[in-house]
Amino acid sequence: MGKTALILGAGVGGIVAAETLRKLLPAEHRVIVVEREPNHVFAPSLLWHIVGANKRADFTRPISALAAKGIELVTGEIEHIDPEALSVKAAGQVLRGDSLVIALGADYAPEAVPGLAKYGINLYTLAGAETIRAALESFRGNRIVVLTAAPAYKCPAAPYEAAMLVDAWCKKRRTGNAVEVAIYAAEPQPMPVAGPAVGGQLKMMLERKGIAYFPSHQVTEVEAGRLHFSDGKSTGFGLLIYVPPHRVPAVVKESGLTTESGWVSVDRGTLETKFPNVYAIGDVTAIPLKMGKPLPKAGVFAHGQAEVVARNVARAWTGKGEAARFDGHGMCFVEVGGGMAGFGSGNFYAEPTPAVRLRMPSPLWHLGKILYEKYWLWSRF
Ligand SMILES: Cc1cc2nc3c(=O)[nH]c(=O)nc-3n(C[C@H](O)[C@H](O)[C@H](O)COP(=O)(O)OP(=O)(O)OC[C@H]3O[C@@H](n4cnc5c(N)ncnc54)[C@H](O)[C@@H]3O)c2cc1C
Repeated sequence: MGKTALILGAGVGGIVAAETLRKLLPAEHRVIVVEREPNHVFAPSLLWHIVGANKRADFTRPISALAAKGIELVTGEIEHIDPEALSVKAAGQVLRGDSLVIALGADYAPEAVPGLAKYGINLYTLAGAETIRAALESFRGNRIVVLTAAPAYKCPAAPYEAAMLVDAWCKKRRTGNAVEVAIYAAEPQPMPVAGPAVGGQLKMMLERKGIAYFPSHQVTEVEAGRLHFSDGKSTGFGLLIYVPPHRVPAVVKESGLTTESGWVSVDRGTLETKFPNVYAIGDVTAIPLKMGKPLPKAGVFAHGQAEVVARNVARAWTGKGEAARFDGHGMCFVEVGGGMAGFGSGNFYAEPTPAVRLRMPSPLWHLGKILYEKYWLWSRF
């Protein structure tokens, strides 16, 4: 008897889970993906987009392409998840599965900070990246601030990369008055989970470029041209680029899958939730680490977790293959501008602290990111 894998979300985790399952399962089993967006956006490429280094079509693909691989696609908003019944309500229909993989990512909550959305531009969306690009072209002021509005957010390197790319763009493109680029961060150091050595290396890179860095600055309110912080201080800006606070999607919260962390709790090796045959992967989860902070939210982890879940579900249904466990390894490119990038990698499950190393910027790592983007889009769509 054929079974059905129901995958919620076609972001990084959902796409990898669906494609891996489809490869491993005989045709009698169904793989259904539910997604509200028509297009996949390869998020790492948003950083190049803000400085006009690529076009929208270079890093977006229609999700309908999954159908050619034998994956069934339901397009629409998921309105309800019943983890006990292994069912969801979406696009006016109720879908039932034998396994549920929740890969719904993180929602953004810029409204949590008064004035943030009105006076700043969101770095983490395609629309925001396009607005930043246009705003840079027409900017005639002298101070650009990159702000993290909460201490934990997906891709912890991204705002630092954005600041360095914007700084390089301004130095290359602007004549006349110089533009100061500054980072105001809610967190106490760059990439806190990766440890003080990696944070120190990133701070050094910022310093060398003359980018002022103000850690442990929690924004409380934004006015036209002015940021206010929790310690009563304030600062001015001509252009504000921000990383919004994140929150778990409402439909996941209402399903009873979240814990006091605000996110879905899972077994860190198998990604199974407290409900049998219900798995959660990627940004929607919080996996506590011994050092006291959760595993960072990043596509590389969503990807690795999706493969583990797909292999274990396929093994349970077919009796073939080895049992898999997610081991906490991850890597990322860190763009620094001028055609250069660093490369971070390591074991985030290492104890007592993650064992992460950041290799210093070189044109080779930048090329690595270009090739990885091409490989991802070619192999997945
Ligand atoms: C600017 C930027 C740069 C980044 N760079 C890197 C990088 O270099 N390396 C790295 O590892 N990570 C990077 N990331 C992070 C990475 O993109 C995310 O961690 C990753 O996409 C998480 O995968 P996911 O499957 O958990 O969620 P997502 O990829 O966010 O997918 C969630 C999907 O669920 C859908 N969805 C949500 N709610 C509903 C609903 N109710 N109904 C239907 N569909 C729904 C969404 O539309 C989305 O398609 C970056 C992120 C940004 C913003």
